[in-house]
Amino acid sequence: KQAAYAELRDVEPFTRDGTRITVMMNAGLRDDMSALAMSGADGVGLFRTEFQFLVSSTLPQRDRQMRLYRDVLDAAGDKPVIFRTVDIGGDKAVPYLDTAVAERDENPAMGWRALRLSLEREGLLKAQARALLEAAAGRSLSVMFPMVSEPWEFDAGKKVFEDQLAFQRDRRRQVPETIRYGCMLEVPALADMLDVLLPKLSFVSVGTNDLTQFLFAADRANPKLAERYDWLSPAILRFLARVSRSFVGHDVQLGVCGEMGGRRLEALALLGIGYRRLSITPAAVGPIKELVRKVDLGELTAQMSRWLAAPPPDMRGALQQWAGERDI
Ligand code: PEP
Ligand code: MG
Repeated sequence: KQAAYAELRDVEPFTRDGTRITVMMNAGLRDDMSALAMSGADGVGLFRTEFQFLVSSTLPQRDRQMRLYRDVLDAAGDKPVIFRTVDIGGDKAVPYLDTAVAERDENPAMGWRALRLSLEREGLLKAQARALLEAAAGRSLSVMFPMVSEPWEFDAGKKVFEDQLAFQRDRRRQVPETIRYGCMLEVPALADMLDVLLPKLSFVSVGTNDLTQFLFAADRANPKLAERYDWLSPAILRFLARVSRSFVGHDVQLGVCGEMGGRRLEALALLGIGYRRLSITPAAVGPIKELVRKVDLGELTAQMSRWLAAPPPDMRGALQQWAGERDI
């Protein structure tokens, strides 16, 4: 099986009816980058910059951040990398930042974390912005903000970058050739603001890990709840289908970067409700590329829309059977 995936490395994932699906990978450390060539992923759809913070015993200074980002871009070569600004705080507490408030946070996942923290600790975001701008000087930079709950938070995050960009220009420093801004959609409230948000940005990536826990009010870290909700439940799929419909008429890339996209049946469901870009764990890239090549997207889309209109009692079973009948 492994050998078969290796053969797929340089094969582009087109569906049987000719739609190119973008299959990217998630990463967080320098060492992850070797998986890019090995897996044949189209790029890094989610680079979790907080990993450097989480494995460090002291706050990574700007220069250290810059070196990491530069190495990552060097390793990626022509392939795109989306850098997500730090998602720390809450359950990803780091001892050297006085996020001690997080210890008292009774719901850390819904607490003072990610962009919420970065916007208040502006020094942190400024340093990260400078590090990214310097690392991507002369090439293209894609920046993504985590846990955006309202459009103004995206504006505020972008402004920190634009101010740093102006600062670099004033000093005649080389800046990136292009900068693309985007955000994660993992807070359900943002889904109802897409008409306002989409004109502002270049891409959105749905974080199904957090989104699901918020939709079901079920802590993603609690093993007692792991079996209680299913990524293939009609509630989630209807929600995600509605999100994908909101993108019609907007020139904004839509993708998924949560774990859901790396699972067989879940990936099928996502393709069937309009998602064309998946960023997944490197080990899933081969299997998902293989799956994409077996799918008739037109047939799958029609089937998913029938199922979402009248959900079968067991969506997982129904999809499993549908895939089995087609040797997928
Ligand atoms: C997500 O929430 O789905 C996501 C991709 O981000 P993380 O898992 O890092 O919270
Ligand atoms: Mg998340």
